[in-house]
Amino acid sequence: MVQMPLSGDSSADGSLVRVEQVTRTITTRNQKTTILDGITFSVPHGALFAINGPSGSGKSTLLNMLSGIDRPSSGQIFFAGNELRGRSENELARWRGQHVGIIFQFFQLIPTLTACENILLALELGGGGKLPRTARRARALTCLEMVGLQDLARRLPSELSGGQQQRVAIARALANNPSVLVADEPTGNLDSRTARQVFATLASLVEYKHTVIYVTHDPAFAALATARIDLLDGRIVSQHNALATITSLEGAQR
Ligand code: ADP
Ligand code: MG
Repeated sequence: MVQMPLSGDSSADGSLVRVEQVTRTITTRNQKTTILDGITFSVPHGALFAINGPSGSGKSTLLNMLSGIDRPSSGQIFFAGNELRGRSENELARWRGQHVGIIFQFFQLIPTLTACENILLALELGGGGKLPRTARRARALTCLEMVGLQDLARRLPSELSGGQQQRVAIARALANNPSVLVADEPTGNLDSRTARQVFATLASLVEYKHTVIYVTHDPAFAALATARIDLLDGRIVSQHNALATITSLEGAQR
């Protein structure tokens, strides 16, 4: 197994992310809509953490705040003990490039680049850009190995199945060795069997000491988390810790 040192630290209570009383409101034509209301929770370091809830419950809005893409209307988000509020867009973008790996529902690979080149591009745009060329290439191949695709490095996205494309996207998210991986419905565009395989790949990253936060509306995937929150209409309706063991994650691979 390939073990990499991780960037970022946990805060004093052992959580990597702490969300306190976060609210998000949107005002359109003098009408104020509350999308998230009084959200408080922590993501433990090394967790496989699910944000679960039906469509429209505020999952994506919340995830975008954790990755610094969107900002709370009120409340605070701490990342390894440091508050995100007050940082400029440029600072947030730089912070995101170093600490957050993002996985999208629709993969978002660059179609004209091979699997390896897609990861190299992420390295060049992020913190890994400082590495020498040979080290960048080695890192890209290590990331592909972590998702079991080292043999497909030279394939274009169009030469890969949907499940393989999403695993390349997971490898790309790992490129700059982020403290946390965030994934919004990462298996939402896959058939159920492939979805289980891709989920197992994502879940396996916690064995490399990565923290993974994923959004899902599927109770079966939510149940495999080591910790989770359930959202409904912008509020947390329940929180669970230490839900699953690695044994039950292995079940997802079958
Ligand atoms: P989920 O990801 O759980 O499906 P979202 O976070 O995308 O939910 O959205 C939560 C609610 O907020 C939905 O009702 C959605 O329509 C609304 N919403 C999200 N973004 C905006 C926006 N920019 N303007 C107005 N309403 C929004
Ligand atoms: Mg969503």
